[in-house]
Amino acid sequence: MKAVQYRRVGDSPEVVEVDVPEPGPGQVLLKVDAAGMCHSDIAVMSWSAEEFPYPLPLTLGHEGAGTISAFGPGTHRYSEGDRVAVYGPWGCGLCRACAYGEENYCRRADRLGIRPPGLGAPGAMAEYLLVDDERHLVPLHGLDPVEAAPLTDAALTPYHAIKKSLPKLVPGSTAVVIGAGGLGHVGIQLLRALSPARVVALDINDQKMELARSVGAHRTVRSDENAPEQIRELTSGNGAEAVFDFVGATATTRIAARSVATEGDLTIVGIGGGSVPVGFGTLPFEVAVSAPYWGSRGELLEVLELARSGEVRVHVDSFPLEETPEIYERFHRGEIPGRAVIVP
Ligand code: NAD
Ligand code: ZN
Ligand code: ZN
Repeated sequence: MKAVQYRRVGDSPEVVEVDVPEPGPGQVLLKVDAAGMCHSDIAVMSWSAEEFPYPLPLTLGHEGAGTISAFGPGTHRYSEGDRVAVYGPWGCGLCRACAYGEENYCRRADRLGIRPPGLGAPGAMAEYLLVDDERHLVPLHGLDPVEAAPLTDAALTPYHAIKKSLPKLVPGSTAVVIGAGGLGHVGIQLLRALSPARVVALDINDQKMELARSVGAHRTVRSDENAPEQIRELTSGNGAEAVFDFVGATATTRIAARSVATEGDLTIVGIGGGSVPVGFGTLPFEVAVSAPYWGSRGELLEVLELARSGEVRVHVDSFPLEETPEIYERFHRGEIPGRAVIVP
């Protein structure tokens, strides 16, 4: 089968021919219908050989949707031909976090060498994907796989982040979304669907700012050193009750820190290497800072419901698998608004 692999640190990803995997006991083989392209893939491919944590070659793709093609030995509850989305942050399934469906925070995954598809284990940018256990599958129930694949991360990750801040997003409040890309443009829709907050989106790219407005941002502001002042002006000097930084670079975490209100939430989702100082006098009083990772299995079910009801819709552009290396380059250059989805 064809697969998109990152083969050597520093090289571009390549389309290669590999064997179709055989499902072992309890495993499920999916015929991949769609695989989303995340900025985290670009981060992974920028790491040095010393810090690179996964075995190579690595088949990319941690956002997947597909059709069940075969089962390994053992009993199963799904059937061949069922169309499903893949919950990506696989855990041990047994620890306390996993018991709550929070496999993204599994306490034992690292120790046991359990890794998400595309982030250590072979990923979804291939004709077939081996899924470790049926519990990682969520039925699509009619959702289009191309739109559903990005829901497993580009929607699940902002959903998890935003849900925690909902008590602060009361009528009259303001939420700031920094970076209206794959995650951010869904974050805007989630904020609109789940809260009465006014949504202000920041980006540096005009096309992304336009997308932000078209998916429901009340205001867009250029992401530069004047942005915090503009946000304060829009909020009678108070700042925003919640700031979600979907870039996480030094420049944006600085903006986030200067834009958040007293008792606000500052959530850093992007992995751009930025940070905010926490300590008396460094931020407005009682700001809660967090850097969450992905989301829970239960939250993925909730996200799919929002997509089914039409409240959230990922802006997708689909491309054949053979074009993936070139699409990664275009994505890296900021030329793809919304999410690029690979269709093998
Ligand atoms: P993306 O490339 O689709 O979107 C990034 C957006 O940020 C683009 O619209 C870009 O124009 C904008 N941007 C770049 N620099 C900016 C700046 N200085 N100010 C404002 N906007 C700026 O990327 P994505 O796939 O949405 O991922 C976003 C980030 O989230 C990445 O760092 C990714 O690795 C990370 N991520 C984290 C998690 C997690 O669990 N924490 C999960 C998925 C992705
Ligand atoms: Zn991702
Ligand atoms: Zn666990």
